[in-house]
Amino acid sequence: MTAMETLDPADWGEFSRIAHRAVDRAIARTAALRDRPVWRPVPQAVRDSLRQPLPVAPTPLDQVVDQAWDTVLDYPMGNTHPRFWMWYMGASSLTGALADFLAAADGSNLGGGNHAAADCERQVIDWLRQIMGFPEGASGTLTSGGSVANLIGLTVARNRMAGVDLREGGVAALPRPLRFYASDQVHGCHQKALELLGLGNRALRRVPTGPDCRMDMAALAQAIAEDRTGGWQPACVIASAGTVNTGAIDPLPALADLCRDQGLWFHVDGCIGALARLSPRHAPLLDGIERADSLALDPHKSLHVPFEAGCVLVRDAAAHLGSFALHSEYLDPALRGIAAGGWLFDLGVQTSRGFRALKVWMMLREHGTARFGRIIGRNIDQARRMADRIDAHPRLVRLSPVTLDIVCFRHDPGGLDPAALAALNGEIMMRLQEQGVAAFSDTTVHGQHGLRAAICNHRTTDEDIDAALAAVLRTGDELTATHARSA
Ligand SMILES: *Cc1c(COP(=O)(O)O)cnc(C)c1O
Repeated sequence: MTAMETLDPADWGEFSRIAHRAVDRAIARTAALRDRPVWRPVPQAVRDSLRQPLPVAPTPLDQVVDQAWDTVLDYPMGNTHPRFWMWYMGASSLTGALADFLAAADGSNLGGGNHAAADCERQVIDWLRQIMGFPEGASGTLTSGGSVANLIGLTVARNRMAGVDLREGGVAALPRPLRFYASDQVHGCHQKALELLGLGNRALRRVPTGPDCRMDMAALAQAIAEDRTGGWQPACVIASAGTVNTGAIDPLPALADLCRDQGLWFHVDGCIGALARLSPRHAPLLDGIERADSLALDPHKSLHVPFEAGCVLVRDAAAHLGSFALHSEYLDPALRGIAAGGWLFDLGVQTSRGFRALKVWMMLREHGTARFGRIIGRNIDQARRMADRIDAHPRLVRLSPVTLDIVCFRHDPGGLDPAALAALNGEIMMRLQEQGVAAFSDTTVHGQHGLRAAICNHRTTDEDIDAALAAVLRTGDELTATHARSA
């Protein structure tokens, strides 16, 4: 008798051997990460091998895994490598990977319901709430990342500050257009959020920053006063607790006071800095974050949880629910059984939700918050180390103050105009990536172009910092010499 066709393995033992082999390879790869280049371009042959006709017929799993291993998995982005400091993201972790596997095998839908995975998410939210110093009873949810965490926070802000039933009437019902304020360093996801919220990019007023890249409080107060007389309704201040460009932290206590006095919603984008509260030496930098009405943070950055894992906390749980809860007759909560116990999708935009909580739960349990604090603190020390070496070198110039773990600088041999200097540093960045030596990004700080290291990486050593800076100098000097010869 042939077995009924399902998606389960025909031979469980065979599946187990294939799966164990895949796990062993992933472990070996991770253990030897340092010996690999940070990044390699995908060879054309590999690209071609990934363009295949729609598979109609089956392929044995061991072949599928081998193909994934030799193609997709052999040319990663590089962010797990100790010398990857591009953009700002986590370096992942095998415990998180294991948790992702277990969560997927569990298979629960975190839209809600009466099961342990839902309790696990509630526990994780409560831990993150405690880390952030939010009051008991505050609400929160795990999201795909910081962008959606911010979107949720800003949605609650918009609905709460509208003064009309915005869910029913939409933005057309607003008596006056709402205005949100953020520094000119604010992350791009906020513009996208206000566009999606129907308020438009113009509703996000960018407040200038000083040389320290922090919001200018006097300019903010003036902007709000102007808007009040100019037909706008000031609604919300978005503080950056760690800007994406330089890691600057807006003056949180002063902003919290201003929002209280002016009756504005206080949203904090803490995707970069919030979790630095885990480092006792650096927690005071974040003072005031616990006064936010809503706060976005990003476990897939400083906690190195595999993507995707963001989080939003909302002080007023009723306001949070009031923006997202829906009551559909087919989802009425039951008294007992699987449908008892409340819906987690009432706190965000997704209906079906993955079991993201398990990887955060397992990583926090395994390592404990103190270890995360030490690693975050070490990354900040490494940024300081890099900054000190830059400051001490005649051909390296720092472009911004170092507050957290981000350093902006450039190689400057002297005598180059801004375009040539930008071309030189862009070339340094690309060569170091192509050689697999180190991954910096480039950015522009107050009109000055340079390289940027975002040292959010639990594998980075001090020696990595020194070696990468030496490579910047060597490459910069070579390029300058070649340029001088050919000129
Ligand atoms: C990373 C980041 C975001 C966006 O978060 P994602 O997790 O990438 O969606 C928002 N704000 C800041 C300051 C960030 O660094």
